[in-house]
Amino acid sequence: MARMVTLIRGTGQGTSPEAQRAVPSLAGCPVHDLKERLRDVGLRPTRQRVALGWLLFGRGDRHLSAETLFEEANRARVPVSLATIYNTLNQFTQVGLLREIAMDGSRTYFDTNTSHHHHFFVEGGDGLVDIPEQDIAVTNLPVPPEGMEISRVEVVVRLRKKTS
Ligand SMILES: [Zn+2]
Repeated sequence: MARMVTLIRGTGQGTSPEAQRAVPSLAGCPVHDLKERLRDVGLRPTRQRVALGWLLFGRGDRHLSAETLFEEANRARVPVSLATIYNTLNQFTQVGLLREIAMDGSRTYFDTNTSHHHHFFVEGGDGLVDIPEQDIAVTNLPVPPEGMEISRVEVVVRLRKKTS
């Protein structure tokens, strides 16, 4: 039994071709990982979803509007309509791959960082900046109405340039 364990761990040298083939060679490949991630949340990894997911998740934590993603898709020569962009962003949000943050009525951002955190927002500017959850202490919350509970508290700290 101990020998078996040694054999499985010993992928470096003396491994048989069979054992090498057993190692999932695509693990760590971003596109493969993305397809797995989509399947895990119940979305079929279509070419469009993978292409848009690649643009969204391939560059760390980001906040994007649908229009920004549309421009990026055009630059990357991904043939996709703005309507499909909206659909995909909404699907990704519904399954928890993205968080939707509505600002100033018409402006909506999609956050690839779905962990609990807060945001800076520059008034009249473009985009959001993350604030770690522990940097803001939320206290004295009101008692929610009968039959309701607080789901989460997201703070947006609005910024503007100093005038002087
Ligand atoms: Zn964020």
